Amino acid sequence: MMARMTSRTVHIGQMCKKNLRVLLDMDQVLADFELGFFQEYRKKYPEYPYIEMKDRVGFFVKDQYEKMFSSVPNIGNAVANIYNAKKFFLNLPEIEGAVDAAKKLAKMEGVDVFICTSPIEKYKYCLPEKYEWVHKHLGPEWVARIILTKDKTMVNGHLLIDDRVDIIGAIERPSWEHVVFSANHNMKADIGKRRRLDNWTNGDWKELIEDFKMRI
Ligand SMILES: [Mg+2]
Repeated sequence: MMARMTSRTVHIGQMCKKNLRVLLDMDQVLADFELGFFQEYRKKYPEYPYIEMKDRVGFFVKDQYEKMFSSVPNIGNAVANIYNAKKFFLNLPEIEGAVDAAKKLAKMEGVDVFICTSPIEKYKYCLPEKYEWVHKHLGPEWVARIILTKDKTMVNGHLLIDDRVDIIGAIERPSWEHVVFSANHNMKADIGKRRRLDNWTNGDWKELIEDFKMRI
């Protein structure tokens, strides 16, 4: 009887454990999609017009290229060829300081970290390469933290750090609060009352996490 009581107590204790669940987006939060794209595009299509990284506006790079260079035949295909190619996602560089910060975040008391990422439409290389990237840069134990979904509103968490401004889905009011990770493409976007995290290098992320920890 006593043993049973004890195990029940532990079980309830675990259920009551309230850790801060942090969801980290992958592209442009951990992995530098924009830099990887720019470098590959310039290398593969040196004769094509291009948009400087600082002038990127809007989430989808293809949309902006098609709009700006509508007179160039097949420019959209040229853009898509870059990120649909084998090893594109695998070879993406890290966002400065992201890997170090993510590892520190995961070691913080009372914090659970997950990577919440949406694969591109042509998933053949993107899917396994996202796993490989995480394994290579963060370590094998991080692979179990990956949540792949096209609909991030369906994922439970306290905060989602993501560069995409318009995250919509089946749930109108997601459980998480969206913190906008700054990127060239979202600097002019209206983000309403949402907070920004500008980078992983100036230490602001620690204050952000401590603030959220106090509020759950
Ligand atoms: Mg992203």
